[in-house]
Amino acid sequence: MYTRSKDNVVLTPLGDVDLNLLVRLTSEVEEALPFVRCTVSSLRLELPKNAYNPIRRQYNSDVIMKLYRNRFRDRTLMVTRVDLYSPGLNFIFGQAEYPGLLALISLARLNPRFYGKPYDETLFIDRIVKEAVHEICHTYGLSHCSNPRCVMHFSNSIVDTDFKSKIPCRVCTAKLMKILELSS
Ligand SMILES: [Zn+2]
Ligand SMILES: [Zn+2]
Repeated sequence: MYTRSKDNVVLTPLGDVDLNLLVRLTSEVEEALPFVRCTVSSLRLELPKNAYNPIRRQYNSDVIMKLYRNRFRDRTLMVTRVDLYSPGLNFIFGQAEYPGLLALISLARLNPRFYGKPYDETLFIDRIVKEAVHEICHTYGLSHCSNPRCVMHFSNSIVDTDFKSKIPCRVCTAKLMKILELSS
């Protein structure tokens, strides 16, 4: 079915990130997006100090995206533990070049502990996979989808993330296949 060679997606820690989580994420991303070969980078990116807003206690993702733009040859998903915002928004789960090669997700609001719930690794990983796949699909040029079960549905809150699945819906998969065909 996928005759072209697989696209590399490199998971790259930004700041201090549990590498075991990233390793688990690789197989989940490959399962959700079978045209992708997902690996963990040996790089450890630094969080730029000038991205930190001490009043909000969050990092400005626009500053981070700008800093690491055009740095990598492979499609790169930066993963960070810190909470992110984009000017005009209270917080963001992630951000991506659309289309492009660079994406970013934050684990801060995916951890059940953030909501005062006990730690649940399965739930935590499920949420990370959904946000990772969502941002990776943006880098291919996929936009948001109105189907609330589709991974490309926009998450306003963690409730939306928990409701959606880890994979693109039929419509989005068809769009993605078309994009991949055109780029091969
Ligand atoms: Zn999105
Ligand atoms: Zn969809």
